Amino acid sequence: MPESKGSKSLLRNSVNFPSFSDLPDENDVDYTYYDEGPSVFKPRQHWCFLGEIVDSYGLSRILLRVKDKDDQVVTIGLYTDDRGHALAPQIKQGHTVAVLYGEQHGFLDMSVGIRVEEPSIIKIIPCSLEQLLKASDDVAARKLNGQSRCCGSCGKKENTSDNTHLRLCSRCKQTSYCGEVCQRKAWVDGHKTDCKAFVWVQWFAARNWGVFNGYFNF
Ligand SMILES: [Zn+2]
Ligand SMILES: [Zn+2]
Repeated sequence: MPESKGSKSLLRNSVNFPSFSDLPDENDVDYTYYDEGPSVFKPRQHWCFLGEIVDSYGLSRILLRVKDKDDQVVTIGLYTDDRGHALAPQIKQGHTVAVLYGEQHGFLDMSVGIRVEEPSIIKIIPCSLEQLLKASDDVAARKLNGQSRCCGSCGKKENTSDNTHLRLCSRCKQTSYCGEVCQRKAWVDGHKTDCKAFVWVQWFAARNWGVFNGYFNF
């Protein structure tokens, strides 16, 4: 990958990770996201809406209220066969919902949001939107500056003369520690959540969002 491409924080990109107001409207053709195909319109790139759960309601069908990058609160309606019930155990205020290929939809009750019909395009990521964006910034900064050479807990530097060897967290491969004690301390101090955010950022970063060759799925 060319160096210049890794220097920007992926999830801050407003074309591939748009806020609600930048999503295509389902009643319009948005040429940022669609190309005129031989018979139907085809996506020209990938996009994913991100919003943090502020509330959920609905008994027979689950509706989520989420706050996007611009702090706009919109509804995500789960129109999947199970009406969202498989997702229910993961729904938690402050966690982030990701919806692939979301489009602006007007619901019958006059609220606006995204109507989700396929379970494979929605995922609940167990961290806040701010944590996820921060993890994206950190991954971009590390790509630019290389791995940090000091312990993520005590700050000790890699040093062969006193036998300090840093080892990477095996889950996220983003933070390093001088030993097990520091690694365990960092885990309870917050890396438990950050680690999941890093793993998700890497899931997003492993895909080419600018070229469409078939739909992504969670
Ligand atoms: Zn340490
Ligand atoms: Zn980790």
